[in-house]
Amino acid sequence: MAELVLDSVSQAYGPRKVIADLSFTLPEGAIGCLLGPSGCGKTTALRAIAGFEPIQAGEIRIGGDAVSRAGWMLAAEKRRIGMVFQDYALFPHLTVADNVGFGLRGESRTSRAARTAELLDLVGLAGHARQFPHQLSGGQQQRVALARALAPRPRLILMDEPFSNLDVELRERLSLEVRDILRREATTALIVTHDQHEAFSLADWVGVMHEGRIQQWDTPYSLYHEPANRFVADFVGQGALVTGEIINDHQVEIELGVLEGRIPVDCGTAGCDACVRHCQVDVLLRPDDIIHDDDSLLLAEVENKAFRGAEFLYTLKLPSGQRALSLVPSHHNHAIGEKIGIRLAADHVVAFPRA
Ligand code: ADP
Ligand code: MG
Repeated sequence: MAELVLDSVSQAYGPRKVIADLSFTLPEGAIGCLLGPSGCGKTTALRAIAGFEPIQAGEIRIGGDAVSRAGWMLAAEKRRIGMVFQDYALFPHLTVADNVGFGLRGESRTSRAARTAELLDLVGLAGHARQFPHQLSGGQQQRVALARALAPRPRLILMDEPFSNLDVELRERLSLEVRDILRREATTALIVTHDQHEAFSLADWVGVMHEGRIQQWDTPYSLYHEPANRFVADFVGQGALVTGEIINDHQVEIELGVLEGRIPVDCGTAGCDACVRHCQVDVLLRPDDIIHDDDSLLLAEVENKAFRGAEFLYTLKLPSGQRALSLVPSHHNHAIGEKIGIRLAADHVVAFPRA
């Protein structure tokens, strides 16, 4: 295991720049995720780290050692990286045990057998050693692929959309299992996904990517509660933006009342270098920032609702006509068109310059 650092990495296919100025540090033993929509450059970044693609600028370091720079790259097989792909890529003619032991060919037969058994045990497939990949379920095959990647004790594990071929329920369970396995091996791992829930349940650090750039590299908690920009606010979690006016450096007024917190915003108005009174901003409200309260005099109209089991996600039309979301316990089953009492429960402010 080792720390992974990307320092202002850029990569292009011919004239086409795909990743630009990509920087982040994944600490030793941590699990990181690159999260972003399809085509934003996640796989390209992963391939550059693995040593399958050259980079045009910046530096990639593993455990303090440079592995890629403009004009130079350490060969992929010398990087001591384990890869897990979306399609598992197991050897169909080898048994589960031989798949897992594949990367240990240089070792003695006894140590190879011991490490293989240890990993099969770790991924919960001890009883399947003699089976062939086609005899396993998709989730089991992916665990074999992970065991095979971990067997040679790589410095870093890279996984590209490892769960996307699995159905939703299995995906969630397997991502928790994989996190557990990576923790027990104390492996540094970088996982690529377009699925926010997967990133949040797996990762210590998440980098939200858009058009080849990292928008924010942060903990899942901070990404949700302190998104750095509109793209992150929109891509991570649900919410709505409503207009607000800054009162002072710790208060913003929106139509539902006054929100208190640090005001980490530059309103973008020319000549305004310290946002004080009257600057116009857009304020992010998450569905858990608005509470349904039958006793509140503040009313909003139910415009839409989605049943989530324990909760309804209501889309509310506020008095001004702006929209907001509210997560409400599902025994409060109000009809579309009904006006319901609400109150503000946001305990901090996320505001952006007015679009
Ligand atoms: P993601 O994994 O986030 O979906 P990719 O890294 O696969 O994104 O692709 C990023 C962009 O680079 C896409 O627009 C894609 O079409 C382009 N691209 C990917 N691989 C190649 C390649 N080998 N040659 C040219 N363009 C490529
Ligand atoms: Mg991809």
